[in-house]
Amino acid sequence: GGVMEMNEAPPVVRVDGLRKEYGDTVALDGVSLRIHQGEAVAVMGPSGCGKSTLLNLIAGLDRPSAGSVVVHGEDLGAMNERRRALFRRRRIGMVFQFFNLLDDLPALDNVALAAQLAGEPASQARRRARELLDELGIADRADVYPSVLSGGERQRVAVARALMNRPALLLADEPTGALDSRAGEQVMDLLLDLNQIGQTLLLVTHDRGLATRCAGRLVEMSDGRIVSERGLEAAA
Ligand code: ADP
Ligand code: ADP
Repeated sequence: GGVMEMNEAPPVVRVDGLRKEYGDTVALDGVSLRIHQGEAVAVMGPSGCGKSTLLNLIAGLDRPSAGSVVVHGEDLGAMNERRRALFRRRRIGMVFQFFNLLDDLPALDNVALAAQLAGEPASQARRRARELLDELGIADRADVYPSVLSGGERQRVAVARALMNRPALLLADEPTGALDSRAGEQVMDLLLDLNQIGQTLLLVTHDRGLATRCAGRLVEMSDGRIVSERGLEAAA
């Protein structure tokens, strides 16, 4: 930081000295990270290096052993379980490798439910869910159950669900990991489009090509630490 940065807004994500142990396993060993409004950051690294743990802690799905996570100005460590769950529902969108859709609800209801759980009336939530599915090009699949959808369609429904509450931060953990390359590229294009209209994005992926295409910054992890960080815009 220099004198020229005095107008910079506070980061959407501020992670400091983050540590997570599972018994004898050190999953995160002192991770610090800033993500600013409108950035797209990709986290890469070998299986088991702590990527999902980092995302889960930023999402408030789990508690750190040490260190802090501040999202959108709110310190997750200062919240009790209930407030953290509420905060997650309202301010954070998550997309997972295996979609995590509810199989006994049609696409539209999967998306609308995200807003209803955050307190929005059902009729309004359903109207907005329909608009969102329309914007993501899958309005014609609104009444279909997840089992009938293709993988790419399922992930677009999952993205719609993640966007329902206009999250300050969209977290995506291997969002293309279960998709064929064409569907994977379409989902990546969607995430890229969302970022270009201002959505702050933190993405975990194994696919370097997709990461460099989609992200403005690449964070490499190994053994629970960040081992390198570099901007990608200059290379694009
Ligand atoms: P990655 O996402 O990079 O594959 P993870 O964050 O899933 O890595 O895992 C980091 C390390 O922590 C691994 O050694 C993993 O086995 C361990 N780990 C992750 N979650 C748990 C858990 N709930 N209980 C025990 N060990 C875990
Ligand atoms: P990924 O490789 O995409 O990180 P995993 O299959 O390793 O996903 O983990 C899936 C879930 O299981 C995560 O919620 C993670 O926290 C948990 N997990 C991972 N490793 C372990 C472990 N050794 N013991 C218990 N839970 C684990």
